[in-house]
Amino acid sequence: MRGKEESMAKLNIVKVGDDTLRKVCRPVDKITPRTLTLLDDMIETMRDADGCGLAAPQVGILRRIAVIEVEAGEVIELINPKIIAFAGEQEAEEGCLSIPGRWGVVHRPKHVTVRATNRDGETFEISGSDLLARALCHEIDHLDGTLFIDKMVKEVK
Ligand code: ZN
Repeated sequence: MRGKEESMAKLNIVKVGDDTLRKVCRPVDKITPRTLTLLDDMIETMRDADGCGLAAPQVGILRRIAVIEVEAGEVIELINPKIIAFAGEQEAEEGCLSIPGRWGVVHRPKHVTVRATNRDGETFEISGSDLLARALCHEIDHLDGTLFIDKMVKEVK
């Protein structure tokens, strides 16, 4: 049980240089109350840091979980996400809460479709274009230990 005063907790964001960010995360086999708490805390942490996405390894948890909020109030929770289709190309600047102060141009698909599990254990698919497609790719990359600085074609100041 969690008391009201600790219903949400802000987590520490791991910064680049920490090995945690370079590990391949394991799938979530079973959704437990701890999984749900982690999702809630990740959303709180992402919002507090003014981010539009956060992956579990960024808070030190090596599990395939990510949250995205590119439209305020529309949080996407992803458990075991996989890109199942992509099309087109876009080039845009990206940053990362784990790499403060750095921005770079990254090529991503313009449209992606992701299959994932939600907090109720149901499989769903989400398709996104432009910023949402980029966020989906960026967060799923984190689950495989890949950072945007590995893919950027140009650093911007
Ligand atoms: Zn990131």
